[in-house]
Amino acid sequence: MFDALTDRLSGVFEGLTGKGALSEKDVSSALREIRVALLEADVALDVVKKFIEEIKPKAVGESVIRSVKPGQQVIKIVNDGLVEMLGGNEDAKGLRIDNIPAVIMMAGLQGSGKTTTTGKLARRLKTQERKKVLIASLDVYRPAAMQQLKILAEQVGVDALPIVEGQLPADIAKRAVNAAKLGGYDVVILDTAGRTTLDEQMMSEAARVAEISNPAETILVADALTGQDAVETARRFNERLKLTGLILTRMDGDGRGGAALSMRAVTGLPIKFLGTGEKSDGLEVFDAHRIAGRILG
Ligand code: GDP
Repeated sequence: MFDALTDRLSGVFEGLTGKGALSEKDVSSALREIRVALLEADVALDVVKKFIEEIKPKAVGESVIRSVKPGQQVIKIVNDGLVEMLGGNEDAKGLRIDNIPAVIMMAGLQGSGKTTTTGKLARRLKTQERKKVLIASLDVYRPAAMQQLKILAEQVGVDALPIVEGQLPADIAKRAVNAAKLGGYDVVILDTAGRTTLDEQMMSEAARVAEISNPAETILVADALTGQDAVETARRFNERLKLTGLILTRMDGDGRGGAALSMRAVTGLPIKFLGTGEKSDGLEVFDAHRIAGRILG
């Protein structure tokens, strides 16, 4: 497995205490360890380079060089840099659902956890924010996906838009928004159809649904365990849809959080929540400090 960055850096600085100022060589080996550790945590190479450039001036600064415990100082600098790059505290603002009914559109590849996350969000909005929630599946290609969402709605105790066969996704979106207006719902969550690859039809269909439903939030759901692919997915979706945020699923898996850092850095989009399990309560509000700690190890 991985060597925790904290251990790696302690190794570099071990024995230096009391020897006085750090040499340039000490600093460059520390930066090298940071680079390797981030790459091992599955952070994209470009993002690693950018990060190193950003922290370098601080890491070679006077306060570190003259410090009694340079290792700990550098770890703090790396930690603070990671927190900042992950969006700091600014991201923990939840969803923008002020207008009624507020549309939340869920986008993402098939298998990313979109439908499961739709159920989790519905549950959270209902139980924690006391919202009246309607959910609708726009996946006309997979009747099983529509059924899955209906069952999830029953499980979490929210309403699902009745299934009408033969309708196009854009028409379902329109029907869902109208039903939400008429039924006095606060929030309507649209679970769009995903594909296994980033194909044009999925993108243009999602763009059309966004045009019709004017979402307050357009969220990309991505599987954190797919690492670099998840970053590419986020980049491509963000080019076509005006995404407002990300939700990373399978954060209960082995991932070190590198995908989170890469996706935040590449897209500039806030990570709103993390999926942490298959059950409907497996959703956590994103916390930059916690992920920074996980990357540091
Ligand atoms: P969709 O095709 O994007 O709608 O994906 P689904 O919601 O059907 O999810 C695909 C699989 O991933 C299912 O077996 C889910 O139970 C599972 N899944 C979704 N989110 C998470 C998560 O956060 N953690 C884990 N461990 N499994 C998840």
